[in-house]
Amino acid sequence: MATELRLQRAEDMHNDSDETAAAPGKAGRLRTRALSGLGSLLPFARPLPPADWGQIDCARVLKVLVRNLDGMVFRCALDAEWTLHFASEGCHALTGYWPEELEGSHAISLERMTHPDDRAPTRQAIMAAVAGGSRYRVEYRLRGKDGSEKWVLERGAGVIDERGERVLEGFIEDVTEQVRGQRQLAETELRYRSIFENSVVGMFQTTADGHYLAANRALAQLYGYETPANLVASLRDIAARLYVDPGRRDEFARLISERGRVIDFESEVYRADGSRIWIAESAHAVHDGAGALLYYEGTVEDISERRQYQARLEHQATHDPLTGLPNRNLLQDRLSQAVALARRSGGRVMVAFVDLDNFKFVNDSLGHAAGDTLLVESARRLRASLRGIDTVARYGGDEFVLILSDHASLNHAVNALERVKQAIAKPVLIDGHELRVDCSIGVSLYPEDGADLDTLLRHADIAMHHAKEQGKGQFQFFTDVLNTAAHERLALESSLRRAIDGGELSVVYQPKVDPYGTPCGFEALVRWESPEFGSVSPVRFIPLAEETGMILPITDFVLRNACREAASWSARGLCAEAGRLNVAVNLSARLFKDPQLPAQIAAVLAESGLPAQRLELEITESLLIGDVEQTVAALEALKALGVRIAIDDFGTGYSSLAYLKRFPVDILKIDRCFVMECERGGEDMAIPRAIISLGHSLRMCIVAEGVENPAQMAVLAAHGCQEFQGYLIARPLTPEGVAAFLQGERR
Ligand code: C2E
Ligand code: CA
Ligand code: CA
Repeated sequence: MATELRLQRAEDMHNDSDETAAAPGKAGRLRTRALSGLGSLLPFARPLPPADWGQIDCARVLKVLVRNLDGMVFRCALDAEWTLHFASEGCHALTGYWPEELEGSHAISLERMTHPDDRAPTRQAIMAAVAGGSRYRVEYRLRGKDGSEKWVLERGAGVIDERGERVLEGFIEDVTEQVRGQRQLAETELRYRSIFENSVVGMFQTTADGHYLAANRALAQLYGYETPANLVASLRDIAARLYVDPGRRDEFARLISERGRVIDFESEVYRADGSRIWIAESAHAVHDGAGALLYYEGTVEDISERRQYQARLEHQATHDPLTGLPNRNLLQDRLSQAVALARRSGGRVMVAFVDLDNFKFVNDSLGHAAGDTLLVESARRLRASLRGIDTVARYGGDEFVLILSDHASLNHAVNALERVKQAIAKPVLIDGHELRVDCSIGVSLYPEDGADLDTLLRHADIAMHHAKEQGKGQFQFFTDVLNTAAHERLALESSLRRAIDGGELSVVYQPKVDPYGTPCGFEALVRWESPEFGSVSPVRFIPLAEETGMILPITDFVLRNACREAASWSARGLCAEAGRLNVAVNLSARLFKDPQLPAQIAAVLAESGLPAQRLELEITESLLIGDVEQTVAALEALKALGVRIAIDDFGTGYSSLAYLKRFPVDILKIDRCFVMECERGGEDMAIPRAIISLGHSLRMCIVAEGVENPAQMAVLAAHGCQEFQGYLIARPLTPEGVAAFLQGERR
């Protein structure tokens, strides 16, 4: 048994060699060959000394060997049936027949057992080899006794037998398992290739450095190439040529190296024609046995439609279908963004609740379609009257919410609301009806009126209802300070209109003196004593007067009074120098370029009898910025009257000192802020000193205003300043005060 087993194993190895199959005809030769072959193949057999070899029963060994072969050793005739002369015992396992049943039988021949379809090709292959004197090797199907079919491999050769006849000797073994395996493999490969090639999903294999190894038709189509080959040839650098954002390829590689795969990796890519689509990739890395990255492979799906659909859904979820404006959801988002930004930058956010006043009427009387038209048109107007960065949202019904942030000042924001009101108030044509719709606006402010959305919205809503109570077309701030300011401004405006005619305005005069204290002139300053507000500073009402156009009558009033007053000083001989005392009148920027102004001044001068050279006109430095030619022309026109021009608050504006020489100016008034601390010398004197020396080089008279103590006057005088004005000398004086001041001087 042990011997047989060993022989069996040895024979397994031997099977691979054709030696066995090509069994020679002569028994002696067969014996020798079998023995020499066996010796080398039996390492575990007890080694025999060469002298003992002759004692081995070669016939027995061969018999055992052949009997134990897994397959059939045979000899057959080259006839139509392949009539078997000899079949080894392996034939039973192979065919189900015993050698005795097969040998010499015509009924159960090799030919009969061969699958009918395989008979002709098998015969052809064998006969060709026999004719050529070569060995053959052929695979075919063999049907055994029980009708079962096996794939067999037959190897053999034509030989001349002992009788000198040509016969076939060979070996047939069962290869059903191998064939089935190969078939399966081939089928699987075919199936996979078919999946790859015919898939409607784009598939690829790419190298780590961004080249395509393979792409299927679906991918080529998706990317707009005629064939996969075109795609592979054209897309040489995936990162740069495929992805709209070149960083995507790195991200793709990073994710795969971290997680081994990517799933639904979304990117925007270029197609062959340059158009863009959105894709989702799912891919993984393929490694070799040593773990080195071979390539990536995966699938690509066109998700452009899904994206568009998502975008549409998102838009629907965040916008009002009627007006296309952001809805409440998006409003919340925008507001929290604006608040977060303002929190960081220390800015403000204005939330305005806008409610159409006549909407219900339109909806009820003209129908919903008309109501919708009105809403759409109102939405358009709101949008048009604000900046792109502001938000206009539909809050519901006829309510809109505006978010205004980043406005330079509250005034700008208020102006924006004013624009909104006016835009809404313009007539709308609906169904042939010309409608006028007003809106009420309630405003809350971050951070004053709330730190979170709900509070800001609630407060704006409260303010809006408050505005409604006040009548249509109003706006109302939630913050009282702002309301007070807004109201006061309104009240001030109407009071000022009455003040001009009602004799509430007066003029006071602040003296200017030379370094020795001798008066050289007065600046006329307007005063307003209001029965409602008490004495109102010009700092408060002059800007209002400028905005409302009331500055014109006010200037006229001051100019007339100042000229009349100054003429009276000399007429009355209030002091020795009275005939040379000047009077200065402040000229607002708004009036300065008015072409009527010179004539108006000439008329006032003529009427009062004041010589033109005794009138000074103070203008602010900001006027010098802008169109130089135009400014020079305006100044020349005034100077032609014979009056002198002073630049007020000099040093606070942005005019270049070098520019100054181009303007026909006589006097520079150093602003109070530079005078305030000039007595400390050093740095604090730097600007006054520069102004004085520049002014002198241009032959201008230098006046220091706001002089409050002798030290200031002394240091400025030492540097060459010629005139001084300020509380040190006197506060602005009434005409009676002026008379007393001048008479005191005389004494
Ligand atoms: P301004 O032309 O620079 O007038 C000087 C202002 O400084 C005056 O204030 C005056 O009372 C004040 N002042 C004078 N000396 C001193 C001082 O030693 N210390 C301090 N702290 N203040 C001093 P006022 O009268 O309130 O006028 C303010 C501004 O209103 C004027 O500044 C001028 O720009 C404008 N204004 C006044 N009257 C008129 C006018 O009739 N027409 C125009 N267009 N503007 C005027
Ligand atoms: Ca002035
Ligand atoms: Ca001034």
